[in-house]
Amino acid sequence: MKGFKELLKSSKNVLQGIAAAPGMVIGKAYVISKETIHVSHDSIDDPEEGIKNLNDAISKSKKELNKVFGFAKEKMGTTRAAIFEAQLMILDDPILIGHIKKRIREEKKLPEFIVDDEISKYQRLMIDSHEHYMRERATDIEDIKNRIIKNLQQKRWESKISKDVIVVSDNLTPADTILFTKSNVKAYLTDHGGLTSHAAIIARALNVPAIVGLHTASQVIKSGDTLIVNGFHGYVFVNPSQKQIEYFENKISHLTEINSKLNEIIDKPSETLDNKHIQLLSNVDVTGEIDMVIANRAEGIGLFRTEQVIEELGEFPDENEQTRIYTNLANRIYPDSVTIRVFDIGGDKVKQLQLKEQNPFLGLRGIRFLLENQSLFKTQIRAILKASIHKNILIMIPMVSTIQEINQSKEIIESCKLELMKENIPFDKEIKIGIMIEVPSAAVMTREYASIVDFISVGTNDLIQYLMAVDRGNDIVAPLYQEFHPAVLRTLSHIFKEAKSVGTKVSLCGEMASDTLAVPVLIGLGLDSFSISPSTIPYIKKIIRSITYKKAKALAEECLTMSSEEEIVKLIEKFFKVNSIQRTRNIL
Ligand code: PEP
Ligand code: MG
Repeated sequence: MKGFKELLKSSKNVLQGIAAAPGMVIGKAYVISKETIHVSHDSIDDPEEGIKNLNDAISKSKKELNKVFGFAKEKMGTTRAAIFEAQLMILDDPILIGHIKKRIREEKKLPEFIVDDEISKYQRLMIDSHEHYMRERATDIEDIKNRIIKNLQQKRWESKISKDVIVVSDNLTPADTILFTKSNVKAYLTDHGGLTSHAAIIARALNVPAIVGLHTASQVIKSGDTLIVNGFHGYVFVNPSQKQIEYFENKISHLTEINSKLNEIIDKPSETLDNKHIQLLSNVDVTGEIDMVIANRAEGIGLFRTEQVIEELGEFPDENEQTRIYTNLANRIYPDSVTIRVFDIGGDKVKQLQLKEQNPFLGLRGIRFLLENQSLFKTQIRAILKASIHKNILIMIPMVSTIQEINQSKEIIESCKLELMKENIPFDKEIKIGIMIEVPSAAVMTREYASIVDFISVGTNDLIQYLMAVDRGNDIVAPLYQEFHPAVLRTLSHIFKEAKSVGTKVSLCGEMASDTLAVPVLIGLGLDSFSISPSTIPYIKKIIRSITYKKAKALAEECLTMSSEEEIVKLIEKFFKVNSIQRTRNIL
């Protein structure tokens, strides 16, 4: 059978959109045609009756939305369900509602007309906004407006659809997206909307495949058509051939096999037996990994290694190319955040851009390289800032060893912000800046450095290499590369305590965080945020869910009194045995 790309090229029955939520399904289409709401301009004799009708419609809308909100909380958690809380707040906005009532009294027009006119004003402001995010929110306002009007007109909402269908529509409101899941929707396809539309966010949160921005889907597709939806790549096959069906049935059964094993743990919270939440973020090296990040329910991206982009492309990407890459990533992970680490060039990375050095790992690497090559640094910062419009990007500086490097980096970021402001280019003005702690001098100085940044992330891959004076890539000295050396654990303990003492958030993004053996000690030392490769999330979560923070703390305290790695590893292995914790890597 041909590969996916050839299959696509040779197929004429394909529509392409934006892959908004991953997954693959075959099913029947259910097309929801857009219902236009007609608003009457008629005058009324009794404004007080109009106001009473308005009050009734608002309280009915509140009741409906409260139901949706409750269902959403149950299905996707309080944070994501906040969309509906925000809609409820609009219904409670005394200024907006007061203004509508005032106009009904003064203009003596039907409340539906005033509601439409007044709320549309807000909508237009949002649609005209330069911020993509605000334009997407205009759809949410439309939802509220139509809900009040429908209730004023005493019409019913169509929230019931046939079971097990693929919903096709020109656009979807957040409420419909959540309510349709009661009918076990298999996928969502919409003509409009972007990755940050709430329909896309809800679909991702509920693990329902979705493709948005399909332009003509709701016209081309008819109810009852057979569809193959590929939410990983954003393709829909309409009335597929037998060959196409066979190809995808194969793919789907393989996917189901993997998923069923992961599913046992995937939706369970990442918390210890005594209810301490441990944040599980993901490291991303190549942008293609993002599907795995989403499928494994990472709470965001804790490290995006941008130097890999240079390796992938084989050349240095210009500002536009970088903006495109970072924007795409930020959109895909929204509403979670992505920590973009600026280029860590040097050491053994991106050889083509380096000087010849005797000791590249101790040479012009990470921030040292960037401060020597400021135009390259500035290009990257400008691209990151331009991609930050949804306020879900953080900037991280690698290989920091002195306070001057932090201050200089902050000055450069500030100067890029000023440039963009002058150019009228929007960006997140409060973008958070953090540093990596991976050089022993920075580890010792954690308190001072952490107090002038927004967050820190511990890079144990380098920290161990520099602390133990052992090349992380050299087999001959590999036995000296000791994750559990007492000096490493004591240094980590110092970093976590010092950062906490100044209230700065700490995460750990080195490979140590993906080692199941290290999890109890790291948690016991006070770490509550791990950034790990996406495929390891289920394994790490399994360990987290099998231990108590209390016991992990006691274990870490004991480890800190020991003087060799051997003793420490024995102690940790005993901990696993005594508490009957399985270290299985075979969940997949
Ligand atoms: C680290 O040093 O631990 C780290 C995460 O950075 P990298 O592996 O990219 O050097
Ligand atoms: Mg590093």
